[in-house]
Amino acid sequence: MHHRGYTLVDLDPQGDRFAIEFALHDGPAARWAASAAVGDGLDATALGSSFELPEAAPGEYLVFGDTASLPAINSLLDAIGDVPARVWLEWQYESDQNLPVRNKPHHQVTWLQRVDDGRLLREQAQSISCAADAFAWVACDGHTTRSIVKTLKTSHNLPKTAIKSQAYWK
Ligand SMILES: Cc1cc2nc3c(=O)[nH]c(=O)nc-3n(C[C@H](O)[C@H](O)[C@H](O)COP(=O)(O)OP(=O)(O)OC[C@H]3O[C@@H](n4cnc5c(N)ncnc54)[C@H](O)[C@@H]3O)c2cc1C
Repeated sequence: MHHRGYTLVDLDPQGDRFAIEFALHDGPAARWAASAAVGDGLDATALGSSFELPEAAPGEYLVFGDTASLPAINSLLDAIGDVPARVWLEWQYESDQNLPVRNKPHHQVTWLQRVDDGRLLREQAQSISCAADAFAWVACDGHTTRSIVKTLKTSHNLPKTAIKSQAYWK
């Protein structure tokens, strides 16, 4: 039995439906998705999310993620309304960059190739300017997530209350 975390997308309680978007790689969950057929079953536990948008809207969201966290990032972009955001997404296959991102005109999206286990994303976090009232949302592989959070705290002085992070895979 394998347990993995996935994001429920476009919940439709009335229609009793939701979607899951699987990033494909070589692992049991991804393999299941790649070969799933209509009628296949999954045992699932809905855990919900403890994340709530900050009460006072930040000046800007800084978002770091990849194809695994893109479903959650799209929900975040839907939820943050008029607040500007800069979003950096890591791609492993060129076609990843064609995945739908629900960005609005005030959301700037940049795709960066995954090289050296996330080096470009980590370097990007180092090189950005970061306003004092920014809020960061980080969900990449574990090493990259921890590194970016450290950079946001130590190089950009973001308080930990202004950072939401979660390692999505290792
Ligand atoms: C809260 C939460 C929500 C998540 N939501 C989603 C979601 O909506 N969609 C989604 O696709 N993933 C999502 N993930 C990530 C997903 O749970 C992991 O990628 C999981 O490890 C995949 O399981 P697996 O059985 O396919 O591979 P595993 O058995 O975990 O790993 C097998 C191999 O694949 C590699 N691997 C694992 N994940 C990735 C990846 N994303 N990219 C490249 N290589 C990888 C591992 O390093 C390992 O070498 C979420 C994770 C969390 C914590």
